[in-house]
Amino acid sequence: MERRPRVALIFTGGTIDSVGVDRLDLAFYIEAGKRLEDGELVARVPELASIADVEEIPFRRLPSQSIKDQDLFDLVALIHQIFDEDRADGVVITHGTNTLEETAYFLHLTVKRDRPVVIVGAMRPSSAISADGYLNLLSGVRVAGAPQSRGMGVLVVLNDTIHSARDVTKTATYRVETFQGRDLGPLGYADNDGRVLFYHRPLRPHTTETEFDLAGVDGLPRVDIVVSYLGADGVMIDAAVAAGARGIVSAGTGAGRPTPAEDAALDRAKAAGTVVVQGTRVGSGRTVTSPGLKRKGWSAADNLQPWKARILLALGLTRTSDVDEIQRMFDTY
Ligand code: ASP
Repeated sequence: MERRPRVALIFTGGTIDSVGVDRLDLAFYIEAGKRLEDGELVARVPELASIADVEEIPFRRLPSQSIKDQDLFDLVALIHQIFDEDRADGVVITHGTNTLEETAYFLHLTVKRDRPVVIVGAMRPSSAISADGYLNLLSGVRVAGAPQSRGMGVLVVLNDTIHSARDVTKTATYRVETFQGRDLGPLGYADNDGRVLFYHRPLRPHTTETEFDLAGVDGLPRVDIVVSYLGADGVMIDAAVAAGARGIVSAGTGAGRPTPAEDAALDRAKAAGTVVVQGTRVGSGRTVTSPGLKRKGWSAADNLQPWKARILLALGLTRTSDVDEIQRMFDTY
């Protein structure tokens, strides 16, 4: 008989364990700031025990927009510790959906173990009518315990769908189908018959295959994101440089076009030693290394969302500030 998978659960907060004022509180619960007690979410899904041996590992629980770089470093260390002590075959992390994709991509690039790491969340609080978090948690445990999830990098599971941490983004403020891979689609499904099915495998290197090892790294360098809009005068770019940004991700219009004044400010930033990565505010599609970008010595963000480009650039800057090397990283990851 096959051994039941052992799955460690790390709860970091978000909507999934939030409690609203009543069953119809689907929007304001965050402001009430109320959460389930430790152990309560798991206790409400007794079916978990029929799928895996689950163990809840304490961590801080926060609204996801308050998570800081140090929380991410601590999370990586905790995941390494769980696997190194052989306490679990896979890890499930519950997370607020607002920044879930940033944590997921950070872990995708920095966790140096190949056992499954799955991030789940919810769009409706635990107290809501038709709360989605219970099934998302169960699906996440199924995926984390499935042998076929190994070596797939960090996975995001909501609404029955398995996404790669690199590709997924939140696309709607309240809908349960908010997480989408846009151009790149999902990897598979945690389907209604209980099966975990993959149809694609991530080709870009991740986890054990990346050059980003946090051992010996104390923190991330400052990288700011600046969004373009009609008439943007570059003040935000100058301010980022003045604040000590070692990198700037420019979320330009269209295929990556800042305004003329921003162009000039980005050139000033580059001259001051700040690494510039050109992305787009559009939400999908690539920005490319045009001859003009090359001439300016800026890099292109490929099809990463600006906030994911920030993470890759910050990790890249822990190793180099050479523009060609940074571009190689954006072409690789
Ligand atoms: N509304 C968010 C969520 O869906 C709250 C958060 O990100 O913490 O989890």
